[in-house]
Amino acid sequence: MTTDSTDTAAAPADPRGASAGGPALARTRDELRTARAALDDGDVAVVMTMGALHDGHATLIRRARETHAHVVVTIFLNPLQFGPKEDLSRYPRTFDADLQICAAAGVDLVFAPTPDVIYPDGDPGVRISAGPLGDVLEGQSRPGHFDGMLTVVAKLMHVTRCTSAYFGQKDAQQLLLIRRMVRDLDFPVRVVSVPTVREADGLAMSSRNTYLTSSDRETALCLSAALRAGAAAAAEGPSAIRRAAREVLVHEPLALVDYLVLVHPETLQDVPEWYRGEALLAVAGRIGTTRLIDNLPVLVGPGGGPLEIFTHD
Ligand code: AMP
Repeated sequence: MTTDSTDTAAAPADPRGASAGGPALARTRDELRTARAALDDGDVAVVMTMGALHDGHATLIRRARETHAHVVVTIFLNPLQFGPKEDLSRYPRTFDADLQICAAAGVDLVFAPTPDVIYPDGDPGVRISAGPLGDVLEGQSRPGHFDGMLTVVAKLMHVTRCTSAYFGQKDAQQLLLIRRMVRDLDFPVRVVSVPTVREADGLAMSSRNTYLTSSDRETALCLSAALRAGAAAAAEGPSAIRRAAREVLVHEPLALVDYLVLVHPETLQDVPEWYRGEALLAVAGRIGTTRLIDNLPVLVGPGGGPLEIFTHD
């Protein structure tokens, strides 16, 4: 499978050093090898993206920058994780602006390959399997998505030779599966999670927000509002949380809710009514033509409420 032509594909390779005023840019495996060799070994953090960078991505990069000698950003729209009816062809492509964000955030190296660089033999016959955790929630609406995602994450961890990798809590199921892959398959990589970055009105930042019309955008606010309402009822227990969140969503008929769940953060199974402790309140829905996801880590029980991030992370 190939992507349609992108400005990523059109721009020339430019293996500059970070010291020349911006990140080195690698398009091919050879360019990556050369640029990566110029970074001191031992402490390289990677931030993997699909481009169309926003402040959520920039926050991941800044977090990585704070603790690591070197930061590599990958920009790759992975065809393997898009279903045939999904938005690969219309996904926003803003490569020049992405490079500027990387430069401002102090990135050392940007790896922006095309699909034929990542999959030189075409569709990979061997893939990482997400297992049962990949079949629920997002996996139910997007069959094969997590296998495709894990396969590219594994490959990018290998080719960048990173020691740490930063991912957003925004994609909670993705983050959990990457942690599981690293643990289950003994990848020598530290996975670091970063809290969801939101617009001032609560909307979780997403490259897909650019699809929203202004009225869609108003409608989309119900997702984060539902999560906040649910978290505000956290002291009362699981059914109160679900009820409070659902109450917000039923008042917004233009949001076609795919799921609203309160699940255990490691098993993704619904938590029972007696459950106390950390849980994931997650929502997905279609607003106009755009499918959005959002979630909030929540402490369930007395003194409970929203969490920035899970404490086991
Ligand atoms: P994407 O380009 O959408 O695949 O995202 C690349 C990385 O940025 C993933 O680890 C995402 O979870 C993370 N990310 C995307 N949006 C946000 C956000 N609003 N806050 C925090 N991290 C985010």
